[in-house]
Amino acid sequence: MKETAQKQVVIVGGGSAAWSCAAALSCNKNLHITLVDSSKIKSIGVGESSLPIIRDFHKKFRLFEEQNWIERVGGIIKYTLEFEDFMEEKGSRWVHPLSAYKEYEEFMTLKHLSTLPHLELTERFFYTQNLCNTKFSDNTNDNLALGAYHFDAKRYAQELQKIALSRGVEHIDAKIVSINQDENITQSLVLEDDRVVEGDLFIDCSGFQNILFKNLKTNFLSFEERLFCNKAMAIKLPYVDIPKQKRNATLAKALKNGWVWHTPLEDVLALGYVYSGKHTNAQDAKDEFFAYLQKSFGYKDLDATQLHHVEYRSGVHEHSWIGNNIAIGLASFFIEPLESTGIALFEIQIMELAKILETNPAFAHNYMHQYNATVLGYILSVKDFIEMHYILSQREDSPFWRDASTIEPNALQKKLVELYRLEKFEEILRLRVSGIFSTLSWLHLLHGNKK
Ligand SMILES: Cc1cc2nc3c(=O)[nH]c(=O)nc-3n(C[C@H](O)[C@H](O)[C@H](O)COP(=O)(O)OP(=O)(O)OC[C@H]3O[C@@H](n4cnc5c(N)ncnc54)[C@H](O)[C@@H]3O)c2cc1C
Repeated sequence: MKETAQKQVVIVGGGSAAWSCAAALSCNKNLHITLVDSSKIKSIGVGESSLPIIRDFHKKFRLFEEQNWIERVGGIIKYTLEFEDFMEEKGSRWVHPLSAYKEYEEFMTLKHLSTLPHLELTERFFYTQNLCNTKFSDNTNDNLALGAYHFDAKRYAQELQKIALSRGVEHIDAKIVSINQDENITQSLVLEDDRVVEGDLFIDCSGFQNILFKNLKTNFLSFEERLFCNKAMAIKLPYVDIPKQKRNATLAKALKNGWVWHTPLEDVLALGYVYSGKHTNAQDAKDEFFAYLQKSFGYKDLDATQLHHVEYRSGVHEHSWIGNNIAIGLASFFIEPLESTGIALFEIQIMELAKILETNPAFAHNYMHQYNATVLGYILSVKDFIEMHYILSQREDSPFWRDASTIEPNALQKKLVELYRLEKFEEILRLRVSGIFSTLSWLHLLHGNKK
């Protein structure tokens, strides 16, 4: 970095990762931030279910402190993730409570674990029962202080944009047509109107376009050999049965070639079928998805032109920080939407980066290796957790499930399964599993998928 008073940070992209990054880093007065995106290139537009870390993120960067902010993003509160039919074709269900409740953590003491004849975790816990199954929690501030949120991705990014701009972030709406890079150092971006944007530090939030990173010498670690889903089709539909559909939970329902997300928002239900393009094609996946929507909720005359198709690559850049380039969000990694981890992980990336830039922006690059190792550790541990949903499945009703459930567990996954079989719950809880999911979450996953 150049030794000037304020460091010039250039963020590329205008999706939720870019605006989260701009809003967060704008708290640091040693930085001058310019964000370049093109309104002609759409953001991914999905990613509407968050994890509790979002509350830490908002708090740390003083975002959404005012009342009723959730209404401006069409959001509701989320307490759990729920999984149906992952274990067997019909009828299996388990609940992953977000480890956000102090009371719940306290309830899960080893005393309870050893006295319960069977590990009936969520079912026995009245609080979760109450929150998940009996009533819908509305957006009061008390409720908002727990759990996580569902929101409209576009509106969330727009609100972050307002905050960032009010804090002095400069916004340029133009397509980037070329990049001046020498080895691993980016000097400037060239825009469609020939303007040149220079900077000290460049943050790539350009999603799957990966425009800064694609020409750098990086090692992309693909997850596709163990995680088969690589396509999705999303749609938003009006509620037809509010008590059944509008719940404080993200529901994942397994179908023959993947699974469907149900993310209830304030006025509309967001749905999407995540599937393996190696096991089915878009036409058959659409038929399967629409048949499910019709059968489960009675939706008729569904319009295929309303579907938003997304193709993704599952994996991560081994180094998300190279030279003066840092990739954040989809430009850096994507695992798959199960357990809704995309936003949480980019929030961790931003918090780690903000910490480094707060300490000493001029020498930030000294922390590059540490940053890369930390970020990669989080992402790989989430990957392990997500893989387990498939490994533990015993579905045999389609080639997709037969392939997915025969993946060989790695050493950690094997150890956890073994400890669980031996009912060594205390040992599981004592294991040090890094990442956003605690050993309690692993315990739920193992318990929820046991025969
Ligand atoms: C199917 C699917 C479902 C998901 N569900 C969830 C979920 O439930 N929960 C969750 O936490 N995460 C989820 N995610 C992840 C989530 O969508 C992303 O983490 C989040 O949207 C951030 O995306 P992004 O900002 O990195 O990229 P994008 O939203 O794609 O933004 C990229 C930006 O780069 C800009 N850009 C690109 N090229 C150029 C150029 N040449 N010039 C100028 N600008 C350019 C575009 O204009 C755009 O604004 C999901 C992802 C997928 C694929």
